[in-house]
Amino acid sequence: MPIATVNPANGETLKTYEALSPEEIERRLALAARAFDSYRTTTFFDRARLLQRAADLLEADAPDIARVMTTEMGKPVAAARAEALKCVKTMRWYAEHAARLLADEHPAESDVKDSGAARAHVRYRPLGPVLAVMPWNFPLWQVVRFAAPALMAGNVGLLKHASNVPQTALYLEDLFRRAGYPEGCFQTLLIGSGAVEGILRDERVVAATLTGSEPAGRSVASIAGDEVKKTVLELGGSDPYVVLPSADVAKAAKTAVTARVQNNGQSCIAAKRFIVHESVFEEFREAFVAGMRELRVGDPLDEDTDVGPLSSEQGRSDLEELVDDAVESGATVLCGGQRPKDLADRGWFYEPTVIADVTPEMRIHLEETFGPVATLYRVADLDEAIAVANDTPFGLSSNLWTGDEGEIERFARDSQAGGVFVNGMTASHPALPFGGAKRSGYGRELSDHGIKEFCNITTVWIG
Ligand code: NDP
Repeated sequence: MPIATVNPANGETLKTYEALSPEEIERRLALAARAFDSYRTTTFFDRARLLQRAADLLEADAPDIARVMTTEMGKPVAAARAEALKCVKTMRWYAEHAARLLADEHPAESDVKDSGAARAHVRYRPLGPVLAVMPWNFPLWQVVRFAAPALMAGNVGLLKHASNVPQTALYLEDLFRRAGYPEGCFQTLLIGSGAVEGILRDERVVAATLTGSEPAGRSVASIAGDEVKKTVLELGGSDPYVVLPSADVAKAAKTAVTARVQNNGQSCIAAKRFIVHESVFEEFREAFVAGMRELRVGDPLDEDTDVGPLSSEQGRSDLEELVDDAVESGATVLCGGQRPKDLADRGWFYEPTVIADVTPEMRIHLEETFGPVATLYRVADLDEAIAVANDTPFGLSSNLWTGDEGEIERFARDSQAGGVFVNGMTASHPALPFGGAKRSGYGRELSDHGIKEFCNITTVWIG
């Protein structure tokens, strides 16, 4: 895959980049190791000042970098601005809270005594240079979600971003440099995925985090496993969205549209499978399909656009294959199911689509639909809803709409996902852990759980 900005709204190649040479990669790995050697001893106060400065700069840059993101991967520009501001908030949150989250822990006096120590405590120390392999769908957020806690913990970052968002990748390196971080604390490596193995096997790189597809995650995790290096994986999702009879059905249907088409449908935590109790099925179906039909598909730089193009031609054909397979196997298209006629020859657009009568043999039942395509299921009761919700290889998040406390409790117990969101759509927040179960990956990002993933949790025992 060439390292290039190709505008998904019209297919035009705007900028291409040469991948780094092996010599340049070596120079940057050496720089990262040197930077870590001194950065690791900085105080939380110093690190927070740097991150606050980066947040201020990003806040000022938000309108400009939003346009760059939109031009690189096609998300509506208003959503791109919101993404930049969410990064600002997260940087500030970690700047403010990291010292507390990583404060020394003191076990109970009786346990310390029992261990034979006069004193003992647990200290969270940084690990070293961490490689972040990141995707294009939230080109700022996915990186900041890693970088803010990693830098506050005293680690340094090496970013291998997706090949289709090189300008955003370079912007991030420049942002941290302008904020005053010492050289080498955060570097963007413009490389193809083929260069990842060599970097991951390098002894100066101590751990890796990857957000992206399952094959990419499997590859990075097996190399890291071979080298006995820690990984965090955030892979795909096919989140269920369950609507039960006591729910506010109109609100559930309205939120369902946003939950499905946010980021042009290319979000790991987008709700993808809509599982509705038969007693409210018709009411939900009607409102949901009407909402999907009303969406404005078009130029993502236009402030009024709801849904822009998919990020790549390949992404659109992968989605079309899933829809075609379902239709050939007997599924019903309730709306969409094709490229918009007026935009068909312009970019990689696809109509917001709802598919019903899905059966377990269809690919769309088990695979992730990375685009504005929803599947709709009718169920008889909560047991069936939970069975359908869990009938997926993924386990990122899950949604339930109900007014019944017993149903909430039951769903929170039985949903095989890393998140359970009730009467609202899944969204991440810096203070709440984020991550998946099953094939959606392992480890957690954000909150205290995220910042501790790349720490050496050290026992200090003093006799
Ligand atoms: P990829 O997983 O291929 O890309 C994500 C990142 O991983 C990119 O930086 C990519 O680099 C890198 N990468 C890819 N293969 C390897 C490898 N073998 N070793 C090391 N790094 C690798 O995602 P795609 O863009 O191809 O999207 C495919 C599907 O993945 C989507 O349809 C969706 O289902 C899922 N996905 C999920 C995301 C999520 O948020 N969980 C985000 C993006 C995709 P390069 O760009 O150079 O190939």
